Amino acid sequence: MPTTNTKSQFLNHIAQTSDAPMGLSISHASGPFIFTTDGRKFTDFISGIAVSSLGHRHPKVVEAVKHQVDKHMHVMVYGEFIQEAQSNFASLTTSQLPEHLSRIYFTNSGTEANEGALKLAKKFTGRTEFLAFRNSYHGDSHGSLSVTGRDVYRDPYLPLLPGVHFADFNHPQALEMIDEHLAAVILEPIQGEGGIIPSDQTWLENIRKKCDEKGVLLIYDEIQSGFGRTGAFFAFEHYGVAPDILCMAKAMGGGMPIGGFAASDEIFEVFKNDPPLNHVTTFGGHPVSCAAGHAALKVMLDENLMENASFIEKTAREILSGDSIVELRGKGAMLGLQLHSFEQTKNVVEACFVEGIILGWTLHSNTLVRLAPPLIIDEDTLTSTLKRIAYYAEKFKTT
Ligand code: PMP
Repeated sequence: MPTTNTKSQFLNHIAQTSDAPMGLSISHASGPFIFTTDGRKFTDFISGIAVSSLGHRHPKVVEAVKHQVDKHMHVMVYGEFIQEAQSNFASLTTSQLPEHLSRIYFTNSGTEANEGALKLAKKFTGRTEFLAFRNSYHGDSHGSLSVTGRDVYRDPYLPLLPGVHFADFNHPQALEMIDEHLAAVILEPIQGEGGIIPSDQTWLENIRKKCDEKGVLLIYDEIQSGFGRTGAFFAFEHYGVAPDILCMAKAMGGGMPIGGFAASDEIFEVFKNDPPLNHVTTFGGHPVSCAAGHAALKVMLDENLMENASFIEKTAREILSGDSIVELRGKGAMLGLQLHSFEQTKNVVEACFVEGIILGWTLHSNTLVRLAPPLIIDEDTLTSTLKRIAYYAEKFKTT
């Protein structure tokens, strides 16, 4: 049990972000499971929101962290010292990307990756405006919030960055809005918080074409969809439509905090000068996070874990069907179960929680259950969990 002390410390000294925290008191976590201090075992079916793709505490990641801690932790501000952990991770990551995405700028988080990408696009193009999409989510710092397409989260913090235009996702109107005023278009190839909405193939191809015609950079926020979650290293590979700047985080560190944005040599040239050190970070690309990320990516590649994402999708599509469900959307292990009503969704999530299954909502939808199991989940746990979700979807069916 959490001591009364720990619980009151949590309630009194940690800034609260909602009136109703889940309040699970964590003891430890291993593989697809989280164990609580009162002896309960939970199946983590959202992977700490698309972070623990290798499960919790993968042995290879833990070993790499320990090894790095024994050598060195933080040494000096970004970009000055040559650190093996950073260099190895950057080269392994870029080796899996299209050739033009040859460099990475490491950050601490997803939102910082987007912040950096927006600044990079401004400096490279000499332009100041952006096109973003309704129902997108790009993070909670000011720049990322400025390109996030949901008023309820923006309104309390206005004014945000000027010159940001919004279009409907997958709507042809966006194409008409791409012109010489824009530094970049920023989008998630599969919208995450918007409700797991994949972009249409032709639409994305046309966005790419129009950006090229108008000298506008295309930024993909693959913070949620990257690092194997959808069955490809990055979701854009399913479309064969590459970005100019690619933002990543979440699963990237194998459970340690790290993010980054990748672009070409030519684009990154503008960060070097005028003035030098115009975009720096104290902790971005921390060597312990880089060592963890490198180990995680090696496991992902050596064990073909991305194929598991496709198996997860196939199994989920078999089990989660019928008229209690509107639709199962998404790709690989980035799935959204669209239900009929808020009531049904709430009941399913709550009943599963009582049984020890952690499901989630997405930020912008109240009728969608987020499914993002770790890619290492065993077949028995996967099928039994999906069957319980299907059972409750039927039990609490509404129309
Ligand atoms: N972009 C996307 C698509 C995300 O899903 C998230 C996190 N949910 C972010 C950006 C922000 O990442 P972070 O919380 O690491 O800042």
